[in-house]
Order: sequence, then structure tokens, then C-alpha cells
Amino acid sequence: MWGLWVGMGSPPNRSLGFLDMPSNLRIDPERLWANLMETAAFGATAKGGINRQTLTAEDAAVRGWFKRTCEAIGCKVLVDEVGNIFALRPGRQRGLAPIALGSHLDTQPTGGKFDGNLGVLAALEAMRTLTTAGYETNAPLLVVNWTNEEGARFAPAMLGSGVFAGVYARSMADGVADVAGVRFGEALESIGWRGEVKAGAIELSAYLELHIEQGPILEAERKTIGIVTGVQGVRWFELAIAGRASHAGTTPMPRRADAFAACARIAVELRGIAAAHAPMAVATIGRVEVEPNSPNVVPGAVRMTVDIRHHEDASLGAMEDALHATIERIGREEKVEIATRKLHDIAAVTFHQDCVAAVRAAAEALGHTHRDIISGAGHDAVHLSRVTPTAMIFVPCKDGLSHNENESATLLDCAAGAQVLLEAALALDAKLAPLPA
Ligand SMILES: [Zn+2]
Repeated sequence: MWGLWVGMGSPPNRSLGFLDMPSNLRIDPERLWANLMETAAFGATAKGGINRQTLTAEDAAVRGWFKRTCEAIGCKVLVDEVGNIFALRPGRQRGLAPIALGSHLDTQPTGGKFDGNLGVLAALEAMRTLTTAGYETNAPLLVVNWTNEEGARFAPAMLGSGVFAGVYARSMADGVADVAGVRFGEALESIGWRGEVKAGAIELSAYLELHIEQGPILEAERKTIGIVTGVQGVRWFELAIAGRASHAGTTPMPRRADAFAACARIAVELRGIAAAHAPMAVATIGRVEVEPNSPNVVPGAVRMTVDIRHHEDASLGAMEDALHATIERIGREEKVEIATRKLHDIAAVTFHQDCVAAVRAAAEALGHTHRDIISGAGHDAVHLSRVTPTAMIFVPCKDGLSHNENESATLLDCAAGAQVLLEAALALDAKLAPLPA
């Protein structure tokens, strides 16, 4: 799927930068905001958030709104076999694969109005701006709503984009069940959104996704635009520590095999492992189960998880090596057996330099404060980056809060992100076209 992009190359007089930025096209901030508020009614919660889990009646309602709205501005709407929705606006050059802009309209059970929704509705606003102005792009444009990004109802998260990118088979997606035992495939058909298009059959020239940061950095540094250069890699481990349960009063300290003491020492040392790769490394022990969990028994067993993250796989590897060495040493010193199992290994992602450059040029041309940023959360763009040149744009959200009904972003920041999205898409589109004679 890289062939088209590579084959087109960069026209020589545009290769050094994006000279005509910004365009004279301007998205309508009020219209974007009105769409955010209008769609927030589908699954609205009493506390001002959204509960619109994937493939529910609420999801079907917002999908219907999205399809009708896209068709009203002249788009052709395609749906693939896992329910991903693509609104297509043709380009003027034949033979160019579309540039896709999008995100997701599903939410967490206690989701907010902006996570995912902003990316889809800003893409829609960008497309509507082009249509209103009668502007023809070289390549077709696609606005995309990916199915089940959140993973709240069906695990794993980012399922629709994962099937699109060939990470998961359609049969695997169809088979996953929610807590009530309903399978993804059944749920998709019951709301009427199983489409005809084979997942992954649509070739793309590039993919751009606007999203709220879901973290505190942009707000703290008073930056409007985050130029997302990549996404953290993640490794999860489960540790089973086997010590010896014994009487808390009669067992002398040197004769103990205390599973929790080993766990606690690993927790302390883990902070040192993260500090050795500061400032980008994070490390977390999120779950600890102690047995027998009795006040007067030396703990005989502990099950615990370790989550380590870094945006460079080499550093992540070094952190893992240090973790194993620490476990081995502490196990010996505490006289306990520690079995380690790796649960997840998700590689770090570096976004495509041309797409990142287009986002940076757009932010600069529009005069926005900006900084490079690594995403700490997974996004559909992670999967898309496997099959097409990809980048993301972040805007701040209040207190860094997300997956929360109080999630909040300002009209001006949402509009700035949407305008950067439009300009970056136009810059990539200009690079796809042959130079005029
Ligand atoms: Zn999201």
C-alpha cells in the first residue's frame, strides 16, 4: 500500500516545504462546535458526557447522522465488512488513492464529548469547507469513522482500524464477545452496519487524525497544537512470586520467604528503571494480589503486573533487560521464586516524516504555538501507520482529563486543530499531484 506514495515522489519545487500555506480556506469554528454538541446528544449522560459504546443503538444513531450529513454535502458513503464508514469526496486527478482523515464516534461508558468525536467531525468540517468553496483536491478525500476504537464493549481496542490494516482477521473480530455474550459480528448485523466493502480494500495515500491530547502537557505549556511524532511502545508482564506463608509472630526475619517484600522491592526499583530513561519512560505496577492476605501471615504468594512504556523500542528493550535483572537479583536475595510472563508487546510507532512535516508546516503557517509530542495512548492511527503514511495532531483538553464525562476542550482549540488538519491534508495533496506544465 506504500507503492503509490513512493511512486509519486516529491515534485522538486515543492520538496523543501509547503510554500503556499496557509490556504485561503477557513473552517467554520461555530459549525464544528454545533456538530460536536449535536452529536453529543446520541448517548448523552446526565453529567454532560456520552455513553455511546460501539454497535449499540446510540452508536447506530450517530452513524445514521454521520451518513446523512456526509451525503448532504455530496459525499458517497461506503461501509466495510466491520462497519468502518468512509465518506468519499472525489479528486480531480485520476489514479490517486484517497487521503483519509478521521477518528472514531464510539465512546467509553463514561466518555466525554471530544475523544474521537473531534477527529471525525473536524474531518467532516474540513471536507465541508472544501465543498462550500468549490475547491477541488488532486486526490479524493475520505472522512473515516473507525468501528470500536475504545474497546470498552469488545476487546481489543482499535478493532475496526486493526482489521482494515490487516492486524486482525475479520473472523477474529466477528468472534469477540461482550460481557453479555453478544458477539461483535452479531451486534454489527443487528444494528444494520455490516457493509459490503472488504476491510482493507480501500488503498490510501495518507492518513491524518486529529485528537484531544488526553494528557496535561499542551495545557501546562500553553501550546495549541501537538505535532504527534509517534506513539509509545508498551510491554506488559505478569509476575508470580512464590514465597512461603508462615506465622507473623513466630517466624524470625532472616527465615522468611516473604513474597510481598519481594514485590515491594521490585516496585521501588522499577521507579529507578523509569528514571534511568527519563523523561519519556513510564513504569507502573497496577495490580497486586497478595495471598493469603491476612494480617498475621507472612505473604506466601503475590501476583502482580508491570507495565513499561517508551517511544523508542531500544529504550524499552533496555528497560525490560533491567527489569529481568532486578527480578532475578531480588528473587535470590528474598529467597522466593519469581516466574515472569510477557502479556503484551506493542512496538513503538514513529509517524511518517512527510505527514509530520505537513502538520508542523500547517501549525507554523497558521501562527499557532506548538510542540512535538509522543502519544501515551493508542489510537487508530497506530494501525493505519502500518499501511499508509500517517500522522496525528493533538489539541489540549482541560486538566488532561479524558475517558471522563467532564472531558472538555475549547471551541478555539478545536477549531485550530481542524484548520491544521485541513492545511496538512492540502499540503499532502499538493505533493501527490504532478506539477502543472
Ligand atoms: Zn480516542
